[in-house]
Parts: sequence; structure tokens; C-alpha cells
Amino acid sequence: MSATLIDGKARAARLRETVARAAEKLKREEGFEPGLAVVLVGEDPASQVYVASKVRLTKECGMRSIEHILPAETSQADLIALVEKLNEDPGVDGILVQMPLPKHIDSDAVVLAIDPAKDVDGLHPVNAGRIVLGKPGLVPCTPQGCVILAKEAFADKTGGDLSGLDALVLGRSILVGKPVALLLQNENCTVTMAHSRTRDLEAACRRADIVIAAVGRPRMVKGDWLKKGACVIDVGINRVPAPEKGEGKTRLVGDVDFDSAVEVAGAITPVPGGVGPMTIACLLANTIRAACKRRGLGEPDLG
Ligand code: NAP
Repeated sequence: MSATLIDGKARAARLRETVARAAEKLKREEGFEPGLAVVLVGEDPASQVYVASKVRLTKECGMRSIEHILPAETSQADLIALVEKLNEDPGVDGILVQMPLPKHIDSDAVVLAIDPAKDVDGLHPVNAGRIVLGKPGLVPCTPQGCVILAKEAFADKTGGDLSGLDALVLGRSILVGKPVALLLQNENCTVTMAHSRTRDLEAACRRADIVIAAVGRPRMVKGDWLKKGACVIDVGINRVPAPEKGEGKTRLVGDVDFDSAVEVAGAITPVPGGVGPMTIACLLANTIRAACKRRGLGEPDLG
């Protein structure tokens, strides 16, 4: 094995410590506890697990967690009415509506109803627009986590400066690919966005100093697609059969074929334990940012 492992779990734990210190300072100096409201509609098991983690880590960081668990048949109008109530609630600094929503609800309409100042998921068009403009705003959590991990990988070489590096973003979703490409451009990378219509994806990959894989295809990016020494950030979370663990067992793998990539890359995120833990840590950091901004306290120092 040649690549250095980028330990997302450890980096996320460090970010959460910073968040906890910031929350403690706000309590001590400003007399309030930042509050994160999480809304879950329905009983999707994966969403229930995500929401439980978000609630637990919010509390662990010394912030207030406000949970709204709604039945699957909740109407769009009722969900939007709840969002509007949370928008008005001065004790709520961040609002997260867990996706995916049941099919009868238009998730775009729900995201649009969230006050952009409380949009800690960074999905509202106002916050998306701020990334395009290169202005400070609430940045979506997974893309934010990817950039933090890429900077971590270049900490020794460039002090975390990504300027001038060639980056390839594989995937162009609103949730991950598009924002991560814009964030990397804002870091002065030269960015190529690849997708299902890209011609000669392998050649595009081989030119990149940083590869961000967000396709949702298990082990798609092979080691021989990579430039020697590249930094590989694997966003993919794919559940695949794992007969070696026993009949009917499964395991999680990324969009990168870790075993071959680790021999060529300079640094690589594992799955699990890479980007995943960063997503919640960035959500908590966004809650602190939203809390400070709304109260005119400026940009908090979150490292
Ligand atoms: P998505 O909305 O399905 O988007 C996938 C993107 O990959 C699309 O842009 C698609 O291209 C592209 N693509 C699909 N097949 C391709 C192929 N054969 N060659 C080149 N490009 C291809 O997925 P997503 O929401 O961005 O998620 C991507 C992965 O990240 C998933 O595994 C998801 O579970 C994971 N994820 C992880 C986290 C985390 O916290 N770690 C958070 C979010 C997502 P087109 O646009 O041309 O269709």
C-alpha cells in the first residue's frame, strides 16, 4: 500500500471539538445555545439512522436539538407550515429537512420554504448562488467536507493550498458534484466536471491531481485511471453483497476501487470513515455559522 489514508473520522472529530468550543463560547459570552431543528418525514430506515446521529452529535457538541418526526402521509402544505414556523422561531438557528422526502412531496418546494439564513444543509438557491458568486454563505455539507479533506491531504506539501491543481469531479448532482466543483474553483483549482456523457473519462481522470468521485457506482474508478500520487476523495456510499462475511451479508464500498487505487494514489479516503463523518460535522459547523450570522456576530473561527 502506498497512499496515505485521509482519516475523515479523525478530521470530523476535530471539527466537532471546534464546534463544541464555539457553542460553549456563545453560551458563555452571548447567553444562548445554538439550536438545530431536524425534520424527518416517514420511516425510511437509513434516514432514521442519519437523523439519530445528527441529534446525538448536536447534543454532544453542546447545542440544542429540536426534533420533528412526522408520519409518511404528512401533506406538503403541513410540512411547509412547520418549516415556516421554524423560520420564525428565534431559538432555531438551523433547519434540516431530511431527504429523500416521500414521493407526494416536492422537495424543491420544501427547500425553497427554508429561510436561507437557517439553511444549514446549504441547498437553498440563495446559498447555491453565493457559491457561484464566490461569496460567503452556508455551503452544502458533503461538498464542504470533501474540500476540507482535500486540503488535509495537501497540508504537508502546500500547507493545504489547492491553487493551480487540476481537479476532476466525477458526478454533477446538485447535492455533491456541482457544488464541490464550484468550491474547488473558488480554491483556485482548474476543474473538470465529468458525468455519464463524458468521453474518455479515464484520460480525464489521469490528468487530475485531485479526483472527487460522486457517482453512486461501486468501485468504478480503478487504480490505473489515476495519476501517480493523486489525492482521491471517494464520496460514494454503495452497499454491495459480501459473501465473505456470510450468506446474505453486505458491506459498504465507495465509487473508487480502493484496493487498486491505494497502490497509485498519494492520499485516499476510505469508505466508510472518509467523507461520511465529515458531512454531519460540517452540518454542525454550519449551525454555528448560521447562529453567529443571524445575530450579527460575524464569522466564527472554526479552524
Ligand atoms: P446522483 O444524484 O445519482 O448523481 C450521480 C452523478 O454521477 C450524475 O451526475 C451522473 O451523470 C454521474 N454518473 C453516473 N454514472 C456515471 C458513469 N458511468 N460515468 C460517469 N458519470 C456517471 O448521486 P449523488 O447524490 O451525487 O451521490 C453520489 C454518491 O455519493 C452516491 O454513492 C451517494 O450515496 C454518495 N453520497 C455520499 C454522501 C456522504 O455523506 N458521504 C452524501 C451524498 C451522497 P449524469 O448527470 O450524466 O446522469
